[in-house]
Amino acid sequence: MRPSYDVVIIGGGVHGLAAAYYLAANHGISNVAVLEKGYLGAGGSGRNTAILRSNYLTPEGVRFYDRSLTLYRTLATDLNFNVMFSRRGHLTLAHSDASLRTMRWRAEVNKLNGVDSEVIGPDEIKRMVPYLDVSAEARYPVLGALYHPPGGIIRHDAVVWGYARGAAALGAHLHQQTEVTGIEVAGGRVTGVRTTRGDIATGTVLNATAGWASLVASLAGVRLPIQTSPLQAAVTEPLRPFLPTVIVSGSLHVYVSQTDRGELVFGASVDPFTSYSMRGSLEFIEGLAGHVLELMPALGKARLLRQWAGLCDMTPDFSPVMGFTPVTGFLVDVGWGTYGFKAGPVSGEAMAECIATGRIPEIIAGFGLDRFMSGQLVGEKGAAAVGH
Ligand SMILES: Cc1cc2nc3c(=O)[nH]c(=O)nc-3n(C[C@H](O)[C@H](O)[C@H](O)COP(=O)(O)OP(=O)(O)OC[C@H]3O[C@@H](n4cnc5c(N)ncnc54)[C@H](O)[C@@H]3O)c2cc1C
Repeated sequence: MRPSYDVVIIGGGVHGLAAAYYLAANHGISNVAVLEKGYLGAGGSGRNTAILRSNYLTPEGVRFYDRSLTLYRTLATDLNFNVMFSRRGHLTLAHSDASLRTMRWRAEVNKLNGVDSEVIGPDEIKRMVPYLDVSAEARYPVLGALYHPPGGIIRHDAVVWGYARGAAALGAHLHQQTEVTGIEVAGGRVTGVRTTRGDIATGTVLNATAGWASLVASLAGVRLPIQTSPLQAAVTEPLRPFLPTVIVSGSLHVYVSQTDRGELVFGASVDPFTSYSMRGSLEFIEGLAGHVLELMPALGKARLLRQWAGLCDMTPDFSPVMGFTPVTGFLVDVGWGTYGFKAGPVSGEAMAECIATGRIPEIIAGFGLDRFMSGQLVGEKGAAAVGH
């Protein structure tokens, strides 16, 4: 570890590592340290369900996530690392007139921004996923779905390792087992960080710590409108491939995809309390199993292999907080809630530009911290509360 770096990035998840990579790759800034209190990918980046999509509700959100999908498409080549991106389509089911209306709204906003999404009916859904119960007898009958062909899944660990290797190869230092315990501020400017392995002088610190973001921001005296809640997920034993697409049901609070190895990966919405605990609960798995069986009764004999939890940094409008803060040199790339893995590439690219130029790139202009003062929120709840 050097006594000083041009840039210190706190958090060794996809966001911190992507920022380090693009700082070097796009701007030639490589005197950079990524400080990670555990191991690379120990946070949400190694715990998520790896769903990629850009079918959001607001124009700001659609444009932003679509840029990330564009970067993901060529990531394996750019990093020379197989990230196993599988474009397999994404279905968000509507079980009520109200959610069908939201799906139509999303489809129109998507199309206006050049993103492929359309509302389809139960017959077409059944043709795509024969195991799904679309009968009128279901407790919550399926009335239609938002179909988003560009969506898919990826190997999340590979993305983390690919960015880590790429950043290190270009000169960034990645320090694991190095917890930031203090941020030095003098005269309203960042001057350095304190860590469990010694002090580092720097004029630029990027907070990319997701679930821990508000704790780390408070070290610099910055308050964030963020609450942290656990989000749980679970996976079954491998089954014969039968599920060609990602399925989300907002009403049933559940989503499912099948990995290339055949496992079914399930997720839900966040636990209904704030906590820094990363333990799974029986209550979650009981609720999840019931809802999965309502969607696909044939899965009654599938066996769960394991469950786990990660931390989600939730903002009031289900959109991130990115850019500068009232402390000069202290930047944030946080508020990633349940949906931030897919944003890793575009966030890394945008934060690197922000640090290198001192200006906010247009693509993240709507996500500044000051929007909570001006009241110009980017309301994404309708597209991000359950489907991640
Ligand atoms: C179960 C689950 C399912 C999800 N599913 C999806 C999905 O399908 N699609 C999607 O897009 N998103 C999903 N997400 C959200 C996604 O995982 C996160 O938004 C994303 O990974 C955040 O990445 P990050 O790099 O910002 O943070 P993280 O990967 O959480 O990394 C932050 C790092 O900061 C480190 N850290 C914290 N404090 C300190 C400190 N003081 N000093 C040094 N290091 C510190 C932590 O150890 C951690 O490794 C899911 C999340 C969970 C938990």
